[in-house]
Amino acid sequence: MVSVFSPPLHRQRHQFVIDFVKRNKPKKVVDLGCSECGLLQKLKFHREIELLVGVDINGANIKKKMHGLAPMSTDYLQPSFDQLRIELYQGSVTQEDARLRGFDLVTSIELIEHLTLADVERFSKVVFGYMIPVAVIVSTPNFEFNHLFHQPAGFRHSDHKFEWTRAEFKSWALKVCLEYGYEVEFTGVGQAPPGQQDRVGFCSQIGVFRRLEGRQDGNMLSGDDAEDLFSYTLLYSINYPSLHNNNILQRVLVSEVLYWAEKMKRNWIEEKTGERDDTLALCCAEWEGEECLRASKQHMEMEDKPTACGAEMKNPEEHHESELFWTNGDGQQESRKLHRCVSVPLAVLWSCCPKLSDLSGSLSNLRHILMNDPEVKLSQDGSAVLLNDQEQDLDEEEEARDLEDSGYAVCSVSAETEEDWEKNV
Ligand code: SAH
Repeated sequence: MVSVFSPPLHRQRHQFVIDFVKRNKPKKVVDLGCSECGLLQKLKFHREIELLVGVDINGANIKKKMHGLAPMSTDYLQPSFDQLRIELYQGSVTQEDARLRGFDLVTSIELIEHLTLADVERFSKVVFGYMIPVAVIVSTPNFEFNHLFHQPAGFRHSDHKFEWTRAEFKSWALKVCLEYGYEVEFTGVGQAPPGQQDRVGFCSQIGVFRRLEGRQDGNMLSGDDAEDLFSYTLLYSINYPSLHNNNILQRVLVSEVLYWAEKMKRNWIEEKTGERDDTLALCCAEWEGEECLRASKQHMEMEDKPTACGAEMKNPEEHHESELFWTNGDGQQESRKLHRCVSVPLAVLWSCCPKLSDLSGSLSNLRHILMNDPEVKLSQDGSAVLLNDQEQDLDEEEEARDLEDSGYAVCSVSAETEEDWEKNV
């Protein structure tokens, strides 16, 4: 007798779906009869899926664990370009809802046996005739396997309206294919003991349906058929953080820029005071060698050509108590009293940090994004990030000398020098 499977049967069924998802990479997936969202919990990690939907007639079941589908803190801390939206509906698979059309995959795991035979007919019409997904996975108990449980007559669950033999399942599936333009493959999970597989089949029988080419897609229907019918109740929806969202992209870019600019500033200050450690060099070394070389070459080029900020800062000691101007997100000028600041050229940051170049695409994109962020202070020509210089007690003369040969110039800009700046850039 076989009563226990390893892994447990419900896990094997879910794993079957996951393996299908890995191979076929559907973008829109709906799990019908999702119950407490167990399968959805696993599917949300397969980020090729962009829309993941669960439907169950029992709203209380859905609500029990639906909050477990929310993004985790790592999803916010390290957002990717993947996009995922999750929606959960209370509704019956015997009713149509326009939001469920045009999916790549519909799963119905141990659901149909909970329906009356009349409702199975309605289910077939809704799924294959109205939703018209690319693929459908249907699993249901195999009645022939039951005598191995010493339950030859009874069903496996008190709510089951039927349990089909392999022939009965096949007959329903082939009829559906003929009627709605699909093909089907039969398989299952839960192996019988050695020597009995052919006789009793799998414990859970599975049909994998694929829409035939030329069959009209659920999104392409028009006229009466395409009426927007919303019969389900939305219980939960969430969008996962994605770098396609401009606010999130901006947040990630700003934090990268500030991190690397601070690091470079500290490095430069240590260089000046002779206490340089090679943290930055080491970090660069972890990246691709080419990037690193590019970064240092660019840095040297910038040393030859002082930035506008550097050009202004030949005599920083004269402007210790001065005013710095920059443009805020509304294009208005703001000003704040600053003692001094360090200017880190954006071009150096951009070529030194591959993540910045990957995410922003171009230096001008990066500049544009940073210009609108209140956390970042850019030089007036937008070519450099300005950071407060906390090393106020540096020797002034030594500082002035260092400015001559540094790509990162210490600057402090007064209102009067602003006009000159404009001329220089
Ligand atoms: N698919 C889940 C659980 C299946 S139990 C899993 O793999 O673990 C069957 C589920 O179908 C139950 O949650 C039940 O509430 C739901 N159900 C029953 N009739 C339904 C109907 N007409 N429409 C939608 N869901 C239904």
